[in-house]
Amino acid sequence: MSLSRQKFLKTLGLGALGAGLAREPLLAADQVAAAKEAARRLKVTDVEIFLFDIPLVQPFRIAIGEMSSATDLLIRIQTDRGITGLGEACPFPPITGETQETNAAAAKAIRGQIVGRDPLAIESLLAEIGPFVHSNPSAVAAFDSAFYDILGQVAGLPLFRLLGGDKTAFETDITAGLDTPEVMARRAKEFVVRGYRTIKAKVGQDPDLDAARIRAIREAVGDGVGLRIDANQGWTVPQAIAALRMMAEFKVEFVEQPVVASDIAGLRAVRQASPIPVMADEACFLPADALKLIRAEACDYFNIKLMKAGGIANAVKVARVAEAANMRCMVGCMLESNVALTAAAHVVAACRNIVYADLDGNSEHTANPVLGGVTVKGGTMTLPEAPGLGCDVDPAFLKKLRKI
Ligand code: MG
Repeated sequence: MSLSRQKFLKTLGLGALGAGLAREPLLAADQVAAAKEAARRLKVTDVEIFLFDIPLVQPFRIAIGEMSSATDLLIRIQTDRGITGLGEACPFPPITGETQETNAAAAKAIRGQIVGRDPLAIESLLAEIGPFVHSNPSAVAAFDSAFYDILGQVAGLPLFRLLGGDKTAFETDITAGLDTPEVMARRAKEFVVRGYRTIKAKVGQDPDLDAARIRAIREAVGDGVGLRIDANQGWTVPQAIAALRMMAEFKVEFVEQPVVASDIAGLRAVRQASPIPVMADEACFLPADALKLIRAEACDYFNIKLMKAGGIANAVKVARVAEAANMRCMVGCMLESNVALTAAAHVVAACRNIVYADLDGNSEHTANPVLGGVTVKGGTMTLPEAPGLGCDVDPAFLKKLRKI
């Protein structure tokens, strides 16, 4: 005996739901066929590249440099089916050695490679444009995000669900840039008043001064607030060991990149002597870097960033490599707007071993031109449920940008 779908659901006591499904079936064969047909016909018709500058409220200072504005690129991939994919590149010269200008040159070259191509063939496209990751990882990240945005829209699913995730919200920390112990403590306290439960503090200068910074912050925020630190390669190995031993009493969760990125042996030496777990950041751009660090037993965690990895695909791969080594990860950021922060948030939500987030890139931006995307309240980030990335840029803001 065969039952109709509606009768079958009715027998399960799901008559009302069944009736709803019958009117708008989610997975009906004709819809699947239509989606396949739409996907087959998808072609990139144009790539719009915009210079996407957003000044900061105040300069952001870390051990190896200072930035006073986010000098980004925004790209929009147009398709012949009317679907537009959005991506952002946020080059951070002191870390990735790229600039808005080099990203723009790379993006123009990549545009020439992908017009006319199928934007859903992400593996093939990334294999072709992937070599740009060594010079312009942020430009590659922008294209990768836009491809995934299109994929999510075609599938009708928010990206994190398409990637198999079900984490709809998670906690992010917020960062206090380098300053005097007093100013950093005051800023940390302000963050806690705004509802943040974890503070990240920049260090990486004189170990005594750095220890004074962390002491002042801990005293200002109390024991109930999470505290993590980032030396941004600023210490030598002996300095790192001395600083971390001094900071052991301040309940520090982990230290990011204590020594220069190229010194994997030094990172391992710090890890062996440190009372505080060590996270690789600038030492870990790509999945192959993660593998090297695991083999060297050089760190406890990875800080994954879309702008280092060249986008979502590689970011997820770094997380998977870590997972195979039973390691946990954080997803961090540069000075992204909510476009790239949303892309990063989808990665956090999609990977179970990403247990920390540092997605405060736009917290000091003087403007938020992004519509939709991830929302932040008191340190809790909530994912959008719209298909794809789930965000767009305010058309009025876009009109003011220089297109190249
Ligand atoms: Mg870092």
